[in-house]
Amino acid sequence: MSDLRVCVSGACGKMGSEVVRAIAKSEGLVLQAAVDFSNVGMNIGEIAGTKDNIKIQGNLKEVLESGNIDVVVDFTNHKVIYENTKTVLQMGVPIVIGTTGFSAEQVEEMKALCEEKQVGALWATNFAIGAILMMEFAGKAAKFFNNVEIIEYHHDNKLDAPSGTSLTTAGIIKEIRKSHKQGHPDEKELIQGARGADYDGFKIHSVRLPGFIAHQEVIFGDLGQVLTIRHDSMNRESFMPGVILGCKEIVKKKAFIEGLDKLL
Ligand code: NAD
Repeated sequence: MSDLRVCVSGACGKMGSEVVRAIAKSEGLVLQAAVDFSNVGMNIGEIAGTKDNIKIQGNLKEVLESGNIDVVVDFTNHKVIYENTKTVLQMGVPIVIGTTGFSAEQVEEMKALCEEKQVGALWATNFAIGAILMMEFAGKAAKFFNNVEIIEYHHDNKLDAPSGTSLTTAGIIKEIRKSHKQGHPDEKELIQGARGADYDGFKIHSVRLPGFIAHQEVIFGDLGQVLTIRHDSMNRESFMPGVILGCKEIVKKKAFIEGLDKLL
């Protein structure tokens, strides 16, 4: 089988350039195009530190119209991911989406579009295998612990809060945990936001500091005991085996798939 020709959207960003490096080291994938609205016209190889000799282009639709892209990988930002995904799917091209920030309504719309166009899309809020296990373990613990809080830690350039991973984790817990409002009924925030964001009666806290990459603790509490499930991505390479697997698998699918775990 010939190599899958990949277009990386957001190729100059922290994740996008890591994907470019991962493709260069991978078997079965080749970088065909690099899209970013910064550095247009420059060589992506110079930016990502690879041997690729591909000029960065600014318009994703124009790249897809060239007709030689087998799969798009998108790591841009929450403001553009909806439009980008629509553009790619409408042209019948499979997509792996790492960008976080889809709303529930947008996910439903994308599912319908995949069905209509008979094309695959993978949206994974976290591509690290350890993070997928953390979410699975959190779901298991939620059967036995009815009180939980999530603390997620990211670098201070992250634009969306709470993180996509924390929202995915919260969704898994919500399915299992008996819904109720946690904490003291009379508790009062002396400074607004002190108790974090509310999700189905439990709290999500977002820390943004230089030094962090992507980390999360899911803390369950009960009488006389606390269970903490923690995952740390020490660098962005931790996400790459998942992204490469996602590309290879999503081209075989014809549906919108939420979560890398569905492909493992
Ligand atoms: P970043 O800001 O470093 O990179 C984003 C890149 O997208 C930039 O180069 C920017 O110029 C480009 N861009 C923005 N709008 C564009 C557009 N309309 N067209 C083309 N390019 C555009 O961000 P990052 O740290 O690389 O993160 C990117 C996304 O990935 C975020 O949503 C982040 O939350 C998410 N993320 C997901 C995972 C995961 O495992 N799923 C892991 C880390 C980060």
